[in-house]
Amino acid sequence: MRIPFIAGNWKMNTTVGEAEKLVKEMVIPLDAIGGIEKVLCPPFVSLLSVKKIIQGFDVGLGAQNMYFELKGAYTGEISPLMLGELCEYVILGHSERRLYFGEVDDLINRKVRASLDNGLKPILCVGEKPDEKEEGRTEEVIGRQLRGALSGIEPTVKLTVAYEPVWAIGTGKAASGEQATVTVDFIREVVAGLWNREVASGVRVLYGGSVTASNVGEFVASSGIDGALIGGASLRSEEFVSIVSRTADLKGAR
Ligand code: PEP
Repeated sequence: MRIPFIAGNWKMNTTVGEAEKLVKEMVIPLDAIGGIEKVLCPPFVSLLSVKKIIQGFDVGLGAQNMYFELKGAYTGEISPLMLGELCEYVILGHSERRLYFGEVDDLINRKVRASLDNGLKPILCVGEKPDEKEEGRTEEVIGRQLRGALSGIEPTVKLTVAYEPVWAIGTGKAASGEQATVTVDFIREVVAGLWNREVASGVRVLYGGSVTASNVGEFVASSGIDGALIGGASLRSEEFVSIVSRTADLKGAR
C-alpha cells in the first residue's frame, strides 16, 4: 500500500519571514487532511523556522538539494548530516539542478546513496527535455537517468521518484494525465528491472510540472501516480491545500 504523497518545492522563493508566514497559513488546514503525506521543501535557510512551526502537526519537511560528503572543505554546500537534524526528505536531481548547476547522473547517484545512508528519503527527479520529447526519446532519457541515479543502490521503498518533464516545469503546459501515466508506469518497470517487482510496487512515483488545483485530478486519478511534486502552486497556500485535499479525496484516503 503506497500512501498518497504531495510535496511542495518552494525553489529559491521566500525569505525566512515569508516562509514563516506561508507555512502558518497552511499548517492547520494541511494537518486536517488525513491519509496523505504532505511535505514542504523550503529553502535551506528556512528549514529550522518551518520545522518549529510544523512541530506537532501532520506535515513533513524536505530540503531541495544536498551534497554527498558528510563534512569538510566544501564551501557553500549542505551535508546529509546537517539535513538529518532538520528534515526527513530531500529532493535530488531536479532538472533545474541538472540545467543550471551541471548536475550529472553520477553526482546524483552519490547524492542518492548519501541521503539513504544517512537516514534521509530521496525524492529523485527525472524527466526529458523538450527536444528529447520531440525526438521520441522520453523512455531512453528516463531509463538512463534512473539507471545512473540508482546504480549500486540497495532496493528500498524509501525512494520516491518524481516524473517531471522539463517542458512542463513552470510553463503552465502540464503533461496530459495519459502521458504522465504511461511514463510513470515505465518508471516503475525500470525500477522493477533494476531492483525487483516487490520493491518497485512499494516505491512511490509522483508527477510534477505545472500541477494546479484544477488539473491535479487528471494525474492522481491514475492508480500508478501516487501524488505530485508541486512548484509554483505550492507558494499559494489555498491552492496547495486544495491540491492536497483533492488528491486525498481521489485516492480515497479519507
Ligand atoms: C518543480 O519545479 O518541481 C515543479 C513541478 O514546478 P511547477 O509546478 O512550477 O511546474
